[in-house]
This record gives sequence, structure tokens and C-alpha cells, in this order.
Amino acid sequence: MDMNLLEQQLSQLPLYAYGFIDPKELEFSDRIRHICRTECAMYGKTWACPPAVGEVSECAEKCLAYKSCLLIGTITEVQDIGDISQTLSTRPAHEAVTNQVRDLLREQGVQPYILSTEACDICARCAYLDGLPCRMPGKMHPCVESHGINLIPTLERMGLEFYYGSNIVTWYSLLFFNA
Ligand code: SF4
Repeated sequence: MDMNLLEQQLSQLPLYAYGFIDPKELEFSDRIRHICRTECAMYGKTWACPPAVGEVSECAEKCLAYKSCLLIGTITEVQDIGDISQTLSTRPAHEAVTNQVRDLLREQGVQPYILSTEACDICARCAYLDGLPCRMPGKMHPCVESHGINLIPTLERMGLEFYYGSNIVTWYSLLFFNA
């Protein structure tokens, strides 16, 4: 894998930050899963969310099967971060850049396992609700938190944050791969 080429390509994308980490550095926590279960309206609604993604231990096993992980982040300023529609309107651009990075990895013959943001909304109604298999398993990305990952310690080690100011929306994705 040509890391120099990849980094050159990454530097041309609208990323606020990116970095390579060892998946073993990530913190997998049942506490995060508890938050999904008790506070997220999307729990049990899509293939990209718990419990469909499996137990936290299974998710960790899946991620730790990879030797490397590329963390990417975007930030976008909105007029009012308290307006959830404004916040979510910044998500498609982040998902698009996540898919661009996925394609860069695929061009180098690498098939990444991707965790991104929020629940999958590719289909108007997720097949999970009808007991059917995911219609686009190659395109959907479970969210980082769905796998029980507490990203904050990793961000701190990288000198990054979730919060950059009152009206700044921050999104992160993780792309696990074996070079
Ligand atoms: S691609 Fe469709 S079926 Fe698959 S998780 Fe997303 S919404 Fe559900």
C-alpha cells in the first residue's frame, strides 16, 4: 500500500483532521452501548445500530481484526447548533468525504471496514424493521458509537476534540484496514 500517495490524496480532501491509529488503542465500552439503548431513538431501528450490529465484544473483535485504522474528521460551522436540522444538514458532506476516503483505499486494493456517523438513512425504511437483510451492506456504515467506541480518549491523544465552539459541528469516521 502506498501510504505517501494516500496521505497526498487525503490532504486534498475537505478534512479537518486525519490520523492513523492502532485499533488496539480504541476504548470499547458497554457504557456507550447503554447510552445507545437508553437515549438514542434509533436503537433497534436499523442494521447500522445496536442490537443488530452485535454485542460490544463482537464489535470489538471485528475492529481488532484489522491492524490499522484511519480516523478522519470534518468540521462545519452552522448558524444555530441547537437547531438539529442544521446540525444534521452537515452530515451528508461528511458521509460523502468518508466514501471518498473509502474509494481511495479501495483503489489501493484495500477493503476497509467503516464506522461513521448516526444511524443509516440510505433507505426510507430500513429493512431491519421488516426482518429483511440490509439492502446495501457494502454502502452502509454503522456509527462509531454503535460499536461501543468511546472516541474521546483517542481524540485527546491525537490533540483533537468533539467540541470546537458553540456553532461548530464535528463528525468523525473510522476506517479499519489491513495494508
Ligand atoms: S442500507 Fe437500507 S437496509 Fe441497510 S442499514 Fe441502511 S437503511 Fe437499513
